[in-house]
Amino acid sequence: MIDRPFGSTGKDVSAISFGGMRFPDPQNLAKSSDLILYAHSQGINYFDTAPIYCGDRSEDIFGHALSQLPRNSFTVSTKGSRAKGDDLRKTLERSLTRLKVDQIDFFYIWHLMNPEDWEKRKQLGAVEAALKAKEEGLIGHLLCSSHMEGEAIAKVLQEDIFEGVLLGYNAINFPYRQKAVEQAGKQDLGVVTMNPLGGGLIPQNQEKFEFLKSETATDVISAALQFNLSNPAISTVLVGFENREEIDQAISAAENFVPISRQQQQHVEAHLKTAFADLCTGCGYCLPCPVDIPIPKYLDSYNQLILTDGDQQAVLNRYRMHWNITPQQAKECIACGDCEERCTQHLPIIQRLAELP
Ligand code: SF4
Ligand code: SF4
Repeated sequence: MIDRPFGSTGKDVSAISFGGMRFPDPQNLAKSSDLILYAHSQGINYFDTAPIYCGDRSEDIFGHALSQLPRNSFTVSTKGSRAKGDDLRKTLERSLTRLKVDQIDFFYIWHLMNPEDWEKRKQLGAVEAALKAKEEGLIGHLLCSSHMEGEAIAKVLQEDIFEGVLLGYNAINFPYRQKAVEQAGKQDLGVVTMNPLGGGLIPQNQEKFEFLKSETATDVISAALQFNLSNPAISTVLVGFENREEIDQAISAAENFVPISRQQQQHVEAHLKTAFADLCTGCGYCLPCPVDIPIPKYLDSYNQLILTDGDQQAVLNRYRMHWNITPQQAKECIACGDCEERCTQHLPIIQRLAELP
């Protein structure tokens, strides 16, 4: 497994990292821990979790597994409450106990929704509380995670508070996060990319992504992982593993990785931009909706209609298994048009919501 420097933190992390949001049987501590220990034995040394993942079991699972390993052989991260500074401190202390460590190596100010949300978090004391915890040694490095569009994330990074960032980045949505990755590169910050397989869209529609394959990535999933790894500003690609085979496949993608040239990368990017111009990228820019429709979740489900040439069952599966949403809420749209004005892809959102099963 290749290790990469994590910005200027002085830490190196494995190019593939383990995201703890997909344990198939989170009540089974021993079985879930085995997956982590297997990944570690294969060279994965960065593990990411959060308080609510897997029915709030994920941190306990990592604590059980990581406490069996030498402390200097892994990097662990978790995330802070979205509320006031006091609450952040409480959840941090609980995370330390659950993870059975004295210090969280990377601690994230979690899920910045939009610039207003970021300002509010600062006013509520979240950053202050996190920096105090860092001074006390409870946090090694302070980072942020966000689903905002790239330029908005880049502005947050320019405030020079964070040493790294976690963002969704993959062969479908990369144009909307590229500016953040570039900014992080300029500031020598660590970059963790989550959702490298487009929330399952890429593995579920492999024939559409065949063009990503290369000499060193002969299957689509490896090619999608290598797409992220090809960006030198990206420190690690976070994958939510469910079994050993997925770990082996991701590790093999990293081990066989030969960086593609900038010219080849531009060719792939141009193809992606034109071939998938009508896909929702999940950037979230269309929100908020006055009747609280989670538009990106429905439009992502509509992507299934496009990619499967109209398979309605694929959409219903996406609702149920990926997003936990129902068909009814899409029908509550009052056609105000606010979202369409904001959509970065200029998608006919009202029409798509009406067409969804
Ligand atoms: S057009 Fe429909 S989905 Fe879009 S913001 Fe208005 S109510 Fe929400
Ligand atoms: S509908 Fe448009 S703005 Fe909303 S998430 Fe999709 S691409 Fe982004």
